Amino acid sequence: MKISNPTEYRESLGKLKRRIYILGEQVENATAHPMVIPSLNAIAETYNSGDEPEAFDILFADSHLTGKRISRFTHIHQSVDDLVKKVLMQRLLGRRTSTCFQRCVGMDGINALYSVTYECDQKHKTEYHKRLKDYIAWIQEENLVVDGAMTDVKGDRSLRPGDQQDPDMFVHIVDRSDEGIVVRGAKAHQTGALNSHEILVMPTVAMREEESDYAVSFAIPSDTKGVIFILGRQPSDTRRLEDSPLDMGNPLYSSQEALVVFDDVFVPNERVFMAGEFDVSGLVVERFAAFHRQSYGGCKVGVGDVLIGAAKLISEYQGTWKASHIREKIVEMIHLNETLFSCGIACSSMGKKTPAGNYEVDTLLANVCKLNVTRFPFEIARLLQDIAGGLLVTMPSEKDIRNPEIADYIEKYLKGVGDVPTLNRIKVLKFIENMTVGCGAAAYLTESMHGAGSPQAQRIMISRLAELDKKVELVKKILDIT
Ligand code: SF4
Ligand code: FE
Repeated sequence: MKISNPTEYRESLGKLKRRIYILGEQVENATAHPMVIPSLNAIAETYNSGDEPEAFDILFADSHLTGKRISRFTHIHQSVDDLVKKVLMQRLLGRRTSTCFQRCVGMDGINALYSVTYECDQKHKTEYHKRLKDYIAWIQEENLVVDGAMTDVKGDRSLRPGDQQDPDMFVHIVDRSDEGIVVRGAKAHQTGALNSHEILVMPTVAMREEESDYAVSFAIPSDTKGVIFILGRQPSDTRRLEDSPLDMGNPLYSSQEALVVFDDVFVPNERVFMAGEFDVSGLVVERFAAFHRQSYGGCKVGVGDVLIGAAKLISEYQGTWKASHIREKIVEMIHLNETLFSCGIACSSMGKKTPAGNYEVDTLLANVCKLNVTRFPFEIARLLQDIAGGLLVTMPSEKDIRNPEIADYIEKYLKGVGDVPTLNRIKVLKFIENMTVGCGAAAYLTESMHGAGSPQAQRIMISRLAELDKKVELVKKILDIT
């Protein structure tokens, strides 16, 4: 692996010449921008082999393409064990960072396309699978971060991609030549886009024949001409610019989303993995969504672990730990969190081999997993706020704590348990503030709701896959109804 540690990762990203806008200004080197650094730190952890005893076994895998040791984030799952280890890796990194570490979208993208390109080639005599395998081998060797870009901006939700007033509401092919294709459109809320070396574009809905120009998948370096990044805002994100890390709550790590515009971008043939095969476009959506819905049963659980730790710590600092209702609430948080984990493990354990030879998760269970993720983190956050108390949104700033004229008052009047420094109590409360109403909530709450598809998308899949008629037959058989 060419990039073998967090430092090399940061350096490699700094070399890219990209067009990036942050708070209205074009930024030369986003990797050094305070608005970006915490999210860069989070993704850099995916390059850190760490000191957890289980880390090495789950962060790395053996490539089925080259036989070499690679990052699991670039791996094509070869077994149920691989699927389970993916979830374990995500829980581990959620625990380390308490945020979204952004790298799973690319992993889920290459895994979804792996089986779909194989099936597409069988059906249409295309050459996408071999191209994709070459691309994946290169990603593995270089150890790159790939932004798996699916969500289009979508325009008027009541209209199909081909019926929009503005034809660019879904990424589409605007020109073709012997050398490649030219694409136009934009992908919304792209996780880790500014921290990625590559962008892997996939269609966002199943396309129809008349929409075949929208059935497009390709990969490009993120500094390709015509690609523009506009960083998305998060609640209280400019605290990163205030030189007061305490007020950031999670001073080291954060998530990141951006709007990525493709302004007539040329893609050479060797990086095109679908160009018009509308009848397989829906398969990519379904499989990517299933993999990413599995992912949330790992990453959000890791974050939940940190929040449960924060609940216990703040109750100790405030003298409420011995109250039975506090302990009950923490048990409830654990129950919810481990239920999510169970779903992540279940859809992995029930995974199956595809015709291409890789393994995919059980789609019904992955959708159940994600539908629970749209609810349980909100309840965990509610319980955490309940335990923490209202001070989490009324605390003075770090600058007040540093002002000698008032510092002693803060130390004296915001003290909880006698032998715990007031600053420790404030640190934990600022963290809880960040995670439940600040920028940490973007990843833990809103992303849990809408990331990998909104709840309704999971309900549709669950109703499609539940085999309701078979269940009716079960009851009829028991009751002898013909
Ligand atoms: Fe990975 Fe979770 Fe972030 Fe998705 S939300 S990229 S699964 S950490
Ligand atoms: Fe996500």
